[in-house]
Amino acid sequence: MRILVVEDEHRIANSIKKGLEQERYVVDVAYNGSDGFDLASTEDYDVIILDLLLPKMDGLKVCRKLREEGKHTPILILTAKGQIQDKVTGLDSGADDYLTKPFSFEELLARIRALTRRPKNSLPVVLTVEDLQLNTQNFEVKRGKQIILLSNKEFSLLEYLMRHAHQTLTKEQIISHVWDYDADILPNTVEVYIRNLRRKIDLPFKDKKALLHTVRGFGYKIGD
Ligand code: CA
Repeated sequence: MRILVVEDEHRIANSIKKGLEQERYVVDVAYNGSDGFDLASTEDYDVIILDLLLPKMDGLKVCRKLREEGKHTPILILTAKGQIQDKVTGLDSGADDYLTKPFSFEELLARIRALTRRPKNSLPVVLTVEDLQLNTQNFEVKRGKQIILLSNKEFSLLEYLMRHAHQTLTKEQIISHVWDYDADILPNTVEVYIRNLRRKIDLPFKDKKALLHTVRGFGYKIGD
């Protein structure tokens, strides 16, 4: 799951990024409205966290312009305490939810979970492919009864593959959902991670069928 944080206060933006990364989200940060709009309209995010008072382009305008462009990414607006009118205007501009500053990190996480659980892209808490299970809430991954330990990045990659089980995903799609904008991606980065994942979810289970497939010339998929 990839999230864009648009917030001009560096301290807040960076602490949100750090916290979300610990929760296995992939996070990009934009420190002004116009950079935020550019990233949101060109990259593929699962949620956008958008401050209202921003240099270069305010949050409401960012929100309105994205909706006008047909971008339906869920948007969570951050407002300063007491700006009730902002909330109303924000929701009218196409935002999905709002959170009043100061907020607790737990509250932010709950809102993000609620937004990504919406029926539009209904996301189950436990993803299952054959006997492989990935729990997006407690981060447990199991094949049969065997618990599998993954690094954060391996977990993000497996989660993305499992959310699109039985579909072939290109390297480009994988990179844009699993790595953030600033990441150093080498030509073989995806292959290396796929190989590591295979070593953990398929190779130890020799009596079971392999789940992770390379579709030569196209990309990768999990499940038949
Ligand atoms: Ca601000």
